[in-house]
Amino acid sequence: MNKTTPGQLVVNWHILEACNFRCRYCFAHWPKSSAREIWRFPQRWEKLLTEIQESPKHVPGEWNGIRLNLAGGEPLLLWRNGRGPLGKIMAHADELGFALSIISNGYLMDDAFIKAWAPKLQILGISADSADAGINAKIGRCDTSGKQISIQRIAEIFQLARARHPGIECKLNTVINAENWRCDLRPLLEATQPDRWKVFKMLPVADTSGISSKQAPLKISDGRFMSFLDHHKDFSGVMASEDNGEMTESYLMVDPWGRFYQNEPDGFDYRHVVSAPVHKVGIAKAFDKIEFNQIKFNRRYTSPGTSPEPHVDRQETIQPAAGVGGRKHRRKTTACYPSSAKFLSAPRVSMIRGLCLAMRG
Ligand code: SF4
Repeated sequence: MNKTTPGQLVVNWHILEACNFRCRYCFAHWPKSSAREIWRFPQRWEKLLTEIQESPKHVPGEWNGIRLNLAGGEPLLLWRNGRGPLGKIMAHADELGFALSIISNGYLMDDAFIKAWAPKLQILGISADSADAGINAKIGRCDTSGKQISIQRIAEIFQLARARHPGIECKLNTVINAENWRCDLRPLLEATQPDRWKVFKMLPVADTSGISSKQAPLKISDGRFMSFLDHHKDFSGVMASEDNGEMTESYLMVDPWGRFYQNEPDGFDYRHVVSAPVHKVGIAKAFDKIEFNQIKFNRRYTSPGTSPEPHVDRQETIQPAAGVGGRKHRRKTTACYPSSAKFLSAPRVSMIRGLCLAMRG
């Protein structure tokens, strides 16, 4: 069974901007708002989730559910041993019928969280960029005192999650940048045995004053990104890579203030574009600000080299390469190509560029 259900619309909510780590390439920063992040206000995030429930009406396609992917910043900052708002938000989303997933750096993910929430999670994602602590420190994938999550702890998290929910998809996310493109991530993959490994090319996101001096030295060429992928081709059975073009305007993302946003091309870099807060103006108006690239959207649900065709069903077997471990995965993927798309006006299709399914999460 495909763990990323066919026809499932994925909305990524970056609940908060704060993070315990300091990755220099981090693009989880948004145009400032005078308002406070909405996780603090139950009425606002309840309204946001209610509006997001309506999103399938505004996205061309045939949907059989919505997955809410919780991201940050670091969402586990709101866990606080079960006393913070994260559990309440997840419980409410679950009651509303959302499928749930989360992407975290894992450092604050305690056993209590996994025991409580793994059974409800469709996907548990952990971000990890290197098996080498020195490289992680150079990237900034550590807290202010240099503490970072170990490979062993990531492996434990996945083990515990699978014990609580055998059907869960345990996923690693890796961002390839100037510090880690030469790294060998086999030790990480062999220890953690992810069901899926998403590999992103570092995305340089500019604010009004351009790309930051922290990010600029981490940019890499397509050639180096391809070199990393080639070096890890033994893991192609679980790997899904995205270059900058594939990452932009191809996700549906909500920021900590309840605004849709996109990373749009800006010269050689990218910049955030935000809508009005969804909980204030409603999802229809907020969508008008969002761009959707129908082709990228479709491509995310087809195999490389497959031309997007409406209503394509395919079976694929995902099996880690020899030496990676014994987990075998058989999943069915159905690409539901919006029959309604052909009725959209060209400006509307262009405007909806960047919608999203599946995110970093
Ligand atoms: S762990 Fe994620 S959110 Fe935190 S700094 Fe790194 S990239 Fe940003």
